Amino acid sequence: MQSNVTVLDIPIAAITMKQAVAAVEDFITAKKTHLIATANAEMIMMAQQDGELASILKQADLVVPDGAGVVWASRYLGHPVPERVAGYDLSQQLLQQAAQKGYRVYFFGAAPGIAVQAQAVAVARYPGLHIVGVRDGYFSVQEEDEIIAEIKASQSDILLVALGVPKQEKWLAKNLHRLATPVAMGVGGTFDVMAGVVERAPLWMQQASLEWLYRLLQQPQRFLRMLALPQFVLRVLYAKK
Ligand code: UDP
Repeated sequence: MQSNVTVLDIPIAAITMKQAVAAVEDFITAKKTHLIATANAEMIMMAQQDGELASILKQADLVVPDGAGVVWASRYLGHPVPERVAGYDLSQQLLQQAAQKGYRVYFFGAAPGIAVQAQAVAVARYPGLHIVGVRDGYFSVQEEDEIIAEIKASQSDILLVALGVPKQEKWLAKNLHRLATPVAMGVGGTFDVMAGVVERAPLWMQQASLEWLYRLLQQPQRFLRMLALPQFVLRVLYAKK
């Protein structure tokens, strides 16, 4: 099992992208269910107020350092993670691996039509990829049993869930035992990016730890949510005192 570092009471795996992919392979061969979360500063701040989310993250099988803020915090607190493992990049690595190894993948979430577009992109990008089911993320409580039965029947090895934070983590924590998929991961806006509806920051901005700024400029409606970022920095600075 990987070692964890703790950022504001949330355990983050101190692993590289390569190790994360290897851990997922182990999860698939272990034949039991596993929950993967991708933590950024916003999610960690949300978990400070939301005990249910905090407890899900503490019990998750793998929480990767998704954001530059988390990488910075781990370094500042003296327990550095080796590198950023962005959720989008991890999902792409897993899709590539799935195409090579014949893993079955299910796409659940995003607005109607988006996951289907993401599926088309994924199949073109990773030849041989077997996507065994696609379903959008807008559903009523009455539809949940049917969705769960459909995912279970698909016998997926990897389930990517894009319902946004913290809905996707809570939905998975509640239903994972009924889904019978060895790997389930919350992927936020990944399908939107794959479908081309939302653009990811250029590489230089990602490398300069400025992806948050690009996201803010592209989706100004995120402004209120993103006020969590300076609060996160202050909390981390204070935590070290
Ligand atoms: N979404 C969904 N069902 C919902 C709420 C959101 O499928 O009830 C989708 C939404 O369409 C988008 C994704 O969840 O594709 C959330 O993307 P965002 O970039 O906001 O992710 P986060 O920052 O929360 O990880």
